[in-house]
Amino acid sequence: MIKKFNELKLPEKFLENLDSLNYKEMTKIQEKSLPISLEGKDLIAQAKTGSGKTVSFSIPIVKKLKVRKFTIQSLVLAPTRELANQIAQEIRKVSRHIHNVKVLTLCGGVPYKPQVASLRHGAHIVVATPGRILQHIFETKIDLSDLEMLVLDEADKMLDMGFYEDIIKVVEAIPKNRQTMLFSATYEEDIEKLASLITNEPVFIEDNSVHEKQVINQTLYEASEGEKDLLIPSLIESREAKSVLIFCNTKVKCDELADILYENDIDVLTLHSDLDQRERDETIIMFSNKSYPVLVATDVASRGLDIDDIDLVINYDLAKDVKTHIHRIGRTARAGKKGLAISFYDEDSKYKLDMLEERFDDLIFGKKEEIEACNYEIDCDFRTLFINGGKKHKVRAGDILGALTAGIGLPKDAIGKIDILEFVSYVAIKKEYIDRAYEGLCKNKIKGKYIKCYIK
Ligand code: ADP
Ligand code: MG
Repeated sequence: MIKKFNELKLPEKFLENLDSLNYKEMTKIQEKSLPISLEGKDLIAQAKTGSGKTVSFSIPIVKKLKVRKFTIQSLVLAPTRELANQIAQEIRKVSRHIHNVKVLTLCGGVPYKPQVASLRHGAHIVVATPGRILQHIFETKIDLSDLEMLVLDEADKMLDMGFYEDIIKVVEAIPKNRQTMLFSATYEEDIEKLASLITNEPVFIEDNSVHEKQVINQTLYEASEGEKDLLIPSLIESREAKSVLIFCNTKVKCDELADILYENDIDVLTLHSDLDQRERDETIIMFSNKSYPVLVATDVASRGLDIDDIDLVINYDLAKDVKTHIHRIGRTARAGKKGLAISFYDEDSKYKLDMLEERFDDLIFGKKEEIEACNYEIDCDFRTLFINGGKKHKVRAGDILGALTAGIGLPKDAIGKIDILEFVSYVAIKKEYIDRAYEGLCKNKIKGKYIKCYIK
């Protein structure tokens, strides 16, 4: 029996909001964890990527929130800025039925000073990377004395990145009398040790019910470097993929492959650590809002990202270990959808096959000769309009939507995902309407002001 959210003891408005977000049936991890976390108990949850962990902890955070009390009540620690931003967005969505909830992200890789200013304006919920919040604890003397909830998301990844000491220091600086939830894709010794130090009589929850093998079809091909480059366009065609994520082990290879695909008339983006934060944000936005069909990435840049509807993951190179492999292929088959993962190996990486075969018993070894190119062109329905105004200018999604529909007269379904960042915003617009949207917005006001915009 699949349980629905409305079986939880949540206020009517809360349930209506979840419903409007299209969260109707709970995922396994939500079904198992929410009754416990909503009672205020500590929790350790282990579940694979895409199982809906973010919603699992966002709901108890929002349920606990006293919005009139303008103090930091919940702290979420996450390994990367990208993930922290996604978590903050999810919490904002889940708390839409409450007015004036302030969710603040405090992450490394962006200037420190503006964060200090934001902190002075106050916040209810902080989503942070461990290093940066620690800096705020020591230098800004951030007031965490009202903190009632600590969440660690992707705890395994945080430990991999060497955040153990930082996490311990953060925990030492916050009230002991709190609820703690720890989420992780794996549960190994180091996590256990951390969990025992920071949780209090935790309930352990595991979701192994959906195994990768049931939802992800994994095919492997032996191919040399040169062959891979030629095979990828044919693979995309033969699978009629609409949204493809390709992993390479190096930045150089990412760029090389992107050039090759581009020459094959495939619109492609790259994501790796040579890009600055702004470029990375933009890349993720334009891939996830369906303006670009293919993203070529390294592991570092893409872990924990929640990009929906990827129907094909390609491992140009085999990952360094099984854990990374699982994280990569977990990008497809999100929240129960069926996924497809294709991996290449060659003489040099053959030795890694053993570890994969040990972990998955349904790998398919394909013959590259059988991949057939056909007459399919991978293409996206949307293009992105860049708007030079964001949260700092009090721009909201509703303002943009209003300007485009009521103002310019575009139909509602011409407008896709809207991303509002601190200073700028991005709107996905169906291709056939992009020129009208652009010209219209240039002449229309948003928040009483003319804004600059351009087509990305
Ligand atoms: P995880 O953190 O476990 O990898 P996420 O929390 O990022 O997974 O969730 C993956 C996707 O599933 C997100 O796009 C989220 O909006 C969606 N999702 C989560 N819970 C539900 C639900 N109950 N019903 C439908 N979609 C959901
Ligand atoms: Mg997650």
